[in-house]
Amino acid sequence: MRTWDTDQLALRKGMEQWCRDLPGTGHDAAEAGFPWDAWKRVRSSGVLGLPFDPERGGAGLDLLTTMFVLEALGEGCRDGGLSFSVATSICSTGVPVQHFGTDEQKDRYLPRLCSGELIGAHAISEPDTGSDALSMRTTAVRDGDHFVLSGSKSFVSNGPIADVVVVYARTRPEGGPLGITAFLVDADTAGFSSGRPVKKMGLTSSPMSELYFDDCRVPADRVIGGVGRGYLLLEHVMKWEILCSFIINVGEMQHRFERCLEYARTRTQFGRSIGSFPAIAHKLVDMRIRLETARRWLYDTAERLVAGQDIAMDVAISKLLTSEANVASGLAAIQVFGGNGYMSEYGLDRELANAVGSTIYSGTTEIQYNRISSLLGL
Ligand SMILES: Cc1cc2nc3c(=O)[nH]c(=O)nc-3n(C[C@H](O)[C@H](O)[C@H](O)COP(=O)(O)OP(=O)(O)OC[C@H]3O[C@@H](n4cnc5c(N)ncnc54)[C@H](O)[C@@H]3O)c2cc1C
Repeated sequence: MRTWDTDQLALRKGMEQWCRDLPGTGHDAAEAGFPWDAWKRVRSSGVLGLPFDPERGGAGLDLLTTMFVLEALGEGCRDGGLSFSVATSICSTGVPVQHFGTDEQKDRYLPRLCSGELIGAHAISEPDTGSDALSMRTTAVRDGDHFVLSGSKSFVSNGPIADVVVVYARTRPEGGPLGITAFLVDADTAGFSSGRPVKKMGLTSSPMSELYFDDCRVPADRVIGGVGRGYLLLEHVMKWEILCSFIINVGEMQHRFERCLEYARTRTQFGRSIGSFPAIAHKLVDMRIRLETARRWLYDTAERLVAGQDIAMDVAISKLLTSEANVASGLAAIQVFGGNGYMSEYGLDRELANAVGSTIYSGTTEIQYNRISSLLGL
């Protein structure tokens, strides 16, 4: 069992309290759009700056402490879309700027990303290249002291509301990872535009869109991490995204588990609590085991990353098992609640829909299986 020191526990309590004070929890309905009022509160909470330089507005927390606080966000905030947008802004943009940015880029973006004045996003997927992301076709061609970006990106979380997007584009026509470069593109850059928010099954309050680059001229000093090094940057970002975004899911699973436990104890049928029936009790046991397993894998993987170890296998296992545990927990919760579980009033339908998304973004379940089999030498 991992132990946390008093400072870490105090930070976690602060986030728990912040979530309790958050109004309108559970309103992540499609019609509601992005919850700007809640975002104002997110901005004042300090969560957006957790792992970033204190001299640039961040809290300077290490990865594990950041995750510990984000887990509390998942546990306490019932708007999964809002939490997803928070994690997206932190990981898509803040993380690469902090780790790969020049001093000028850090000064320009980090303080406003930490304060939430700027919202970040990243654009990797394209209409014809999703899992096979390295085959992306968006190009970036050098022209004097600019690069000219042409192409389109799909499924960009925070796309319609982002102020700055890390765009991955091909700077060398030949295929392969070393032909990809990452750019910090401001949303007001000429030639850049966002499509309308797309409707989706879950995470409805986290807006998503396509992005278009039509001879979009980006200053060469907005290359982040070096020309041809976009793949390395993406690898780093994906590790952070999986650890930070999926620990939020663990918090959500914890909350769901506790709700189910309470319901199983108090709901009676045939003169007994439904939790006294093994068929229901075992669902709770499975939920607990999956939840604890996911939590341990995520924190252990983070610890190994911080220690400089190779986490290729660990991160794939963590991602796969947390997302699948989340779906299994979402389905089990609906079954435990019976008819009530199926009713939107209880919010479990939304949670299941959100969980399904987690098996797709950050590398699908199938792609994680491929990675693990390949690492096993199969
Ligand atoms: C909620 C959500 C948020 C997202 N946010 C972003 C974002 O912010 N930025 C961004 O760039 N993208 C984002 N995406 C896109 C996401 O990364 C892609 O959807 C994902 O990589 C899969 O690509 P695809 O949809 O094109 O499916 P495809 O790659 O076409 O895959 C279709 C199916 O085939 C399977 N498949 C593909 N190749 C193989 C293989 N080799 N072996 C076995 N099975 C395979 C897949 O697993 C999947 O089941 C988001 C997606 C979702 C759902």
